[in-house]
Amino acid sequence: MSPPALPWLIVGGGPHGVHLAARLIGHARVPAEEVLILDPEPRLLGQWRRWTGAVGMAHLRSPSVHHLGLLPFELRQRPGQIAPGLKRPFARPYQRPHRTLFDKHSDQVIERFGLTARHCRGRALAVHPGPDAVRVETTLGPVRARRVVLALGQPAPAHPGWAPRTLPVDRVAHCLAPGFDRDAWIGRGPIAVVGGGLTGAQLALALEAEGTPVMHLRRHPWRVHLFDSDPGWIGPKHMAAFSREPDLAKRRAMIQAARHRGSLPAGILRRLQARQRTGDMTLVRDEVQGLELTERGVRLYLNQGPREVSGVLLATGFEAGPPGGALVADLVRQGLPTAPCGFPRIDKALRWHRRIHVTGGLAELELGPTARNLTGARRAAERILLTAGPQASAA
Ligand SMILES: Cc1cc2nc3c(=O)[nH]c(=O)nc-3n(C[C@H](O)[C@H](O)[C@H](O)COP(=O)(O)OP(=O)(O)OC[C@H]3O[C@@H](n4cnc5c(N)ncnc54)[C@H](O)[C@@H]3O)c2cc1C
Repeated sequence: MSPPALPWLIVGGGPHGVHLAARLIGHARVPAEEVLILDPEPRLLGQWRRWTGAVGMAHLRSPSVHHLGLLPFELRQRPGQIAPGLKRPFARPYQRPHRTLFDKHSDQVIERFGLTARHCRGRALAVHPGPDAVRVETTLGPVRARRVVLALGQPAPAHPGWAPRTLPVDRVAHCLAPGFDRDAWIGRGPIAVVGGGLTGAQLALALEAEGTPVMHLRRHPWRVHLFDSDPGWIGPKHMAAFSREPDLAKRRAMIQAARHRGSLPAGILRRLQARQRTGDMTLVRDEVQGLELTERGVRLYLNQGPREVSGVLLATGFEAGPPGGALVADLVRQGLPTAPCGFPRIDKALRWHRRIHVTGGLAELELGPTARNLTGARRAAERILLTAGPQASAA
C-alpha cells in the first residue's frame, strides 16, 4: 500500500508560493506538516532575491500593503522593528517599501510559519492528476499530493532575435537569467543596457552608480506609469467587468490592453535623464538591426550607425505565453483545458483540475493583469483558501 498522499504540495517557493503557504497555515489552520513547498533554489524566495538584487532595485514598485504576511498593514506599521536603522523605509507615493524592509519582513513570515522546514529543494518535472491524488515526478523522486498548487513564476527571459541565447554570456547576457551576476560587469568599458522599462532603468542606474559607463537603449518612447497596470485592476473598478466577461479571448485582450509593458515611474526616468545631463549616461532611442562580436566586445548595428560596447545586458522581460514550460505543456497534452491564448481555463478557486490550483501568470484569466504581481499572490491565496477548509483537507 502506498503512503497517504500529502494534503498540499506547492510547486514554487517564490512570493506566490510562500504567501500561499503562510495563508494556508495561518488563516486556514492547515497544520504546517501538511504543506510542502518544492523549489530548486537553496532557500525560499531565492529567485526573487536574485532578480531584485541583480537589477539593484532599491524600493519596490508596489505599495506597502502588498507583502507576504497575513495582515495588509503589518509592514507599514512597524518598519523600525523589522529593519532597524533603515534609511527611507518607504518611497512616495503609495509608501512603496525598501527592498531590504520587504525581504526582512518576508524572512519573518517564513520564520513565523516555519516554512524553511517545509521547503524541499527539488524541481517538479511532470504532474499527473488522478482521481484520488496527483502524482508529481520530481528531481527527488515521485510525490503524491491531494492538492497541488502551481506557483511557477514567469516564463523564460525573452531574447530579441538579434541576441540569441547561444552568444557568450560574458558579452551578451539577460539580467533575469539564472546565473547573471552584476558584479562581473562592474568596471568594464561601456555597456549597452537594452530595455526601456523599469528593469532596464534600474540596472542602468545601478551600473552607473558603480562606475561603469552605460549606454541605455530603448526602441520605444518612454512609457511613464507608476505601476505596470492601473490600480483599478486590483479591485472592482476594472475587475468587475473583467470577471463578468465570459469570453476568455476578450479577457486576454483586456489584459493586454491594461498592461503598461516596458513602462517606468516618472521619478526613475528623471534620474536617468539627470545622468544624461551630467554626461554620465547616454540614453539612446533606436532599434538594434544586428550584432557582431569583436575582439574587445560587441558592435551593435543601430539605425543611427554602429556602436562599440564591451558587452550587452538585456532587460527585455519574459517570453509571451504561459509560464511553466514543458511541465505545463504536458498537462495540456493530458487534456487540461486552455483558452485560445494557451493559458489555463480555470474556475473561481483557480482550479485547473479538481486537485490542481494555479497562481501567478497561470491564473491571469481569472485574476486579470495584476495576477503575476505581489497583489496577485494575495488575491490568489484568498481564492484558493475558499477550498481549503477542513472538509477540503479530507477530500
Ligand atoms: C526585477 C523585478 C522586480 C519586480 N518588482 C515587483 C514589485 O515591486 N512588485 C510586484 O508586485 N511585483 C514585482 N515584480 C513581479 C514579480 O515577478 C512578482 O511579484 C514575483 O516574483 C512573483 O512571484 P512568483 O512566486 O510568481 O514568481 P518567482 O519569484 O519567479 O518564483 C517562482 C518560483 O518557482 C520555482 N519554480 C519554477 N518552476 C519550478 C518547478 N518545475 N519545480 C519547482 N519549482 C519551480 C522557481 O525556482 C521560483 O523560485 C518584479 C519582477 C522583477 C523581475
